[in-house]
Amino acid sequence: MPPTRSGMPPTGVRSLWELPGRPTRALIDLDAIVANTAYLQGMVGPRTALMAVVKANGYGHGAEMIARAAVTGGAEQLAVATVDEATAIRAAGLAAPILVLGPIHPSEIEKALRHDLSLTLCSTTFTGLVERTAERLYLSAPVSCHVKVDTGMHRFGAEADQAVAVAERVSASRRLRLDGVFTHFADADAPDEDFTAQQASGLDAVLRRLHQQGIDPGTVHAANSAAILRSRRYDYGMVRAGIALYGLPPSDVVPLPPPLRPALSIRSTVSRVIDLGPGDSVGYGRTYHSTTREQAVLVPIGYADGYRRDLSSLGWMGMHGVRAPVAGRVSMDQTVVRVPTNLRVRGGDEIVVVGSSVDGAPTTTDLARLLNTIPYEIVAGIAARVPRYYIWRGELLSTARPGNAPPRVASTTPLTDAS
Ligand SMILES: *Cc1c(COP(=O)(O)O)cnc(C)c1O
Repeated sequence: MPPTRSGMPPTGVRSLWELPGRPTRALIDLDAIVANTAYLQGMVGPRTALMAVVKANGYGHGAEMIARAAVTGGAEQLAVATVDEATAIRAAGLAAPILVLGPIHPSEIEKALRHDLSLTLCSTTFTGLVERTAERLYLSAPVSCHVKVDTGMHRFGAEADQAVAVAERVSASRRLRLDGVFTHFADADAPDEDFTAQQASGLDAVLRRLHQQGIDPGTVHAANSAAILRSRRYDYGMVRAGIALYGLPPSDVVPLPPPLRPALSIRSTVSRVIDLGPGDSVGYGRTYHSTTREQAVLVPIGYADGYRRDLSSLGWMGMHGVRAPVAGRVSMDQTVVRVPTNLRVRGGDEIVVVGSSVDGAPTTTDLARLLNTIPYEIVAGIAARVPRYYIWRGELLSTARPGNAPPRVASTTPLTDAS
């Protein structure tokens, strides 16, 4: 179906199950993303810009649609981890600045420049490569560059001296433009703020040196979701919001303010009702044995969808608003759950795999706790084969979007916003 003028596919469908296709589906409420973005923007105030972090396919939610919703909610810029993630968003017609946060391979520079991406620079050698590529391509505008300062994360970034040298080199070049200087916090969700404050001082020291040399750092940014939620001290000119944008908490230490709400649920249906008798076993390895006559149902989701095998005999799903425990092992494509006593189920009934307690389902955060991980890993692990459906302005969009479609072949023509 062709997109409408807003770039969104048509609406007008009442129920998710009116739509054809695989019965295991992720449903993403873009209105929640718009509202969460606007709420976070309200927290930091009008003088601080918001960069929506949509790496890893928009934390599994679908980068293109999340990017649209975040821009609608007030995000000025977007950030991703890789060049391919960025070009997929450009191919969808979004014109907002996109910063590639991670290190890239020299072979990707040309593609990045052709798609008007902002690059994170940490070495003068790499900066030289970017400059030469820009020269060779005769680009009409200088390349947007952000210098990343390693202030204690000891991951990607440049030590203070090196960061100053890269910033000097960028600002001295006609082909490059220093659009930002930033750092990333290692411990913004820790019980005490000491290390975050120390990292901010490291960034401030670099900014002072640039100021002394008359170098304009562009937009300064440091705060991730945890820092945004905890303090107004680290806002600088822009904040980078990831997990909070999706309505999920960065950690147990940093609770989410109630207006932020999760956008994602995963829904499936009963594909078979299974009658079990005393002694019957379920699934591989026969790890669940029924002790009485009971019913179980087959749900067509498995670890290849991101429904982790560690949930075997541990997780639960929502069935008519109550908890239905996983029986036995989660397999690659299928999971069996027990029907709670006195509940009547039929083939085709909805099963909420991830949702809210109102559905009887675990939240993303519940699953993260069960699996001894963080909500980030749960949503980033939703497989490409789970089709994503979207709610936009209260209506269900009538087409599924592939969860993780490979980026289209790079287009060299500049793309403008579809709306
Ligand atoms: C992922 C990432 C973020 C967003 O972090 P959240 O905790 O999800 O808000 C911000 N900055 C950088 C450099 C990142 O890699």
